Amino acid sequence: MPLTVLEHALAAQILTHLREETTPPEQFRLLTRTLTRILLVEATRHLPTRARTVKTPLEETGGTEVSISLVAVPILRAGLGMLDAVTELLPEISVGYFGLERDEETAIATSYYSKLPPVEEKAALLLDPMLATGGSAAWAADQLYAAGAAQVTLLCVVAAPEGVARLAESFPQLHIVAAALDRELNARKYILPGLGDFGDRLFGTF
Ligand code: URA
Repeated sequence: MPLTVLEHALAAQILTHLREETTPPEQFRLLTRTLTRILLVEATRHLPTRARTVKTPLEETGGTEVSISLVAVPILRAGLGMLDAVTELLPEISVGYFGLERDEETAIATSYYSKLPPVEEKAALLLDPMLATGGSAAWAADQLYAAGAAQVTLLCVVAAPEGVARLAESFPQLHIVAAALDRELNARKYILPGLGDFGDRLFGTF
């Protein structure tokens, strides 16, 4: 199951606002947070669970709890816009960071910062809103698997076919959850129709 694209009326409406050129950063940040909540619900749908018995005020009944620990790893800087929604819904999650900078000429990302909590046997949620060439996500997934993550799920707002293909080839077990699968990359490796530079729109650095 390499790619799941959200099919949800609210997610589609939020994405439309995110795409709109005139949406200002303060609204862009809010919309990103709301959309990430929906992405997270989908991304955690199939987490392993174990049985747990609880007592209601009336009687004992069977319930469940998630049986795997989670780690969230935003890719700086755009992934930061998705982090608050994740820690709100999963307050006990531990958080790591990958700092990757994309060369505007070559579109190749290089790492300038990396800080991971223990990820061994945990489920890692990689936060990277724009899956373009897949270079950054592939680098990050490599680090997470090498550190022993039991599973890696990439949450992104928009995915390009090129990035999905690259990840599917290198990491067939990685799951991508996206709000949209767009058409293609342009010559500068921006996603079309896309929404522009996610980090710039999030932080107002135009
Ligand atoms: N990163 C972005 O922010 N936007 C794109 O379209 C591609 C990569």
